[in-house]
Amino acid sequence: MPTVELLEHSLMTPRVSRFAFQAPFRHEAGQYVALSALVDGAQQTRYYSIASPPEPSGRIELCVQHEGAFGSHMRSLRRGDRTECSEPGGKMRLLDPARPAVYFAAGTGVSPMRAILLAQLGADPAAEAVLLLGARHSSELLFRDEFEALTDRHPGFRFMPSISGDETGWDGRRGRVVAHIDEAMAGLNSPDAYFCGQREMVAQLRERLAAAGITDERQVYERY
Ligand SMILES: Cc1cc2nc3c(=O)[nH]c(=O)nc-3n(C[C@H](O)[C@H](O)[C@H](O)COP(=O)(O)OP(=O)(O)OC[C@H]3O[C@@H](n4cnc5c(N)ncnc54)[C@H](O)[C@@H]3O)c2cc1C
Repeated sequence: MPTVELLEHSLMTPRVSRFAFQAPFRHEAGQYVALSALVDGAQQTRYYSIASPPEPSGRIELCVQHEGAFGSHMRSLRRGDRTECSEPGGKMRLLDPARPAVYFAAGTGVSPMRAILLAQLGADPAAEAVLLLGARHSSELLFRDEFEALTDRHPGFRFMPSISGDETGWDGRRGRVVAHIDEAMAGLNSPDAYFCGQREMVAQLRERLAAAGITDERQVYERY
């Protein structure tokens, strides 16, 4: 199995870390890798979506919930450490950068959305795109500053955060991602839909998007 070399890692939130690895392969935006390591005395494997679009250097970024067994192991890695890593896989990909797109994600499910969105805006800076991103607390909206900055550089891009927890002082959208589907789709002419998250959220989105006329071929998704 190939290995990747840790370049750096940092805390994004108290629960999520961001990792950059040097990889020996090229990936497509939206793909994931399987990392394997000896954890608690047993060889274990976990899947992680690549959060960055392809870079000529081969650098890949991951966002990892670090409270569990494998995530804790990853946090113990030092710069220069190598980890077994599969070739990239998965069926998520950018369909057509020129078509309107709507992205839905919650938590670390934002990773493949970020990769595909950045690939889309890189290919077509004027693309019409909307990202509806959910989190329990505003401090857990991953890449929030980056997405807000993107709205300045790309007038066709709209960022819609929503908070599901009981946070005082938040005056934006509240509730889970599925509560705001209609607002996200408003004004988009037959968009491609990209989404990633827990099984229940994906099932709800699939049903609502189908009812809105988004056919299976235009729904690109991953279940965590
Ligand atoms: C295609 C695919 C892509 C995926 N991409 C990502 C990704 O990009 N990022 C990502 O983070 N995950 C991703 N996952 C899930 C990932 O593979 C792991 O299952 C997940 O990160 C949990 O692994 P773990 O061993 O760290 O946690 P486990 O030990 O299996 O624990 C599961 C969860 O329980 C909670 N938990 C466990 N122990 C504690 C504790 N001591 N305190 C508080 N909470 C605790 C944590 O929320 C933890 O994530 C993906 C899964 C799939 C199938």
